[in-house]
Amino acid sequence: MDWSKLIPCLAALALSCSSGVDGGPSGGPGSGSGHGSSDGSSLGPRVVCTTAMIGDLALEIGGDAAEVEVLFGSDMDPHLFRPTRDDVKLLMAADIVLYNGLHLEGYLVEALGRVEDSGVEVIPVAERVLLDGELLVSGQAPDPHVWMDASVWSRVPGLIAGALGQASPANQRTFTERAAVVEARLIAADEQYRDAFASLAPDRRVLLTAHDAFGYFGRRYGLEVHGIQGVSTTSEASLNAIEELVHLVVERQIPAVFFESTVSERNVRALVEGARARGQDLQVGGVLHADAPGQAGTYEQMLRSNVSTILGALGTDDDAGAQEVAR
Ligand SMILES: [Zn+2]
Repeated sequence: MDWSKLIPCLAALALSCSSGVDGGPSGGPGSGSGHGSSDGSSLGPRVVCTTAMIGDLALEIGGDAAEVEVLFGSDMDPHLFRPTRDDVKLLMAADIVLYNGLHLEGYLVEALGRVEDSGVEVIPVAERVLLDGELLVSGQAPDPHVWMDASVWSRVPGLIAGALGQASPANQRTFTERAAVVEARLIAADEQYRDAFASLAPDRRVLLTAHDAFGYFGRRYGLEVHGIQGVSTTSEASLNAIEELVHLVVERQIPAVFFESTVSERNVRALVEGARARGQDLQVGGVLHADAPGQAGTYEQMLRSNVSTILGALGTDDDAGAQEVAR
C-alpha cells in the first residue's frame, strides 16, 4: 500500500517539529526587561493563549524567556468553552493574551473585553494573520478554523515574536530567531501536504467531517469539504443536513467520512447508516483533530496526523502520483 510509505516520511517531519520546544538560544530567565511575576522575580512576559494551536508556537518562541500558559485543554471543544472565575483571573494577570478570534471562543469574548479594558494586550491571532480576501464565511458566520492552512498559520510565529519582543525588548532577537525556525517548519510542512494531496485522484478529493472545520484546509490543499454541523458546534445538525449529505455520498460514491476528536460521533454514525441504507458502503476513515490536538500531541503533529488519516482513507493504490510523494 503506497500510503504507508508516506506516513514515516510525515513522521520524520513531525519529529523535527516536536524537538526544540525549549531549544534555541535564549536570554535566559531574568534577562528580559519584561514584566516580572507577582513574587518579584522576572521571568519574562506572562502570556496566556487560548488554544494549543497558538500556545504550542508561543511555548517554543517564548522558551525560558516568557511564561506561557494554554487555557484550553488538549481535548476541549473551544466553541463550547465557558470561562471559570479562575480562568478570568489568569487572563487578568497576563501581560499578553493571544486568542484565535472570529468567534471561535464565543463564550469568552465578553471576558476578553474586560481583560483588554484592564490594560492587558489582547491579540486576536487568526484575525491578524488573514490577508484581505482570505477570510472564509459560512452563512453569516466567519470561519475561525484558520490554523488548518499551514501557509497562513506560518505567519503566526512572527506575530507572537513581535508581541513578546514588545513586552521584553532585551529578548526580541531571541524571539525573532525562534519564530523564524517555526515559520520555516510550517512552510515546509505546507509544501509537503500540497504535494501529497495533489497526487490524490480528483474524484477522491471530497472530505466529509463532523463539523465545518476544514474550509481553510480544503481551500489550501485542494479538497471539497462538507461538515455535518456548521462552523460552530454550538448549534445542532439538522436531519435535513444529514439527508442532503447522504444524497451526496451516494451520488458521488464517497468512500469515507471522518470523526473529529472534540465532536460527538452521533451525526457521523447517522450519516454512515443513512448511506448504507441507500447502498453506499460509507466507511469511517478515522479520527481527525480539528479544534484541538488531543492525542495527536502538538499543533504541528495534529496537522500531520490529519493529513495522513485523510490520505490513508481517500487514497487508492491507483494514485501513481501518491507513490511519487511517498518516496
Ligand atoms: Zn470548530
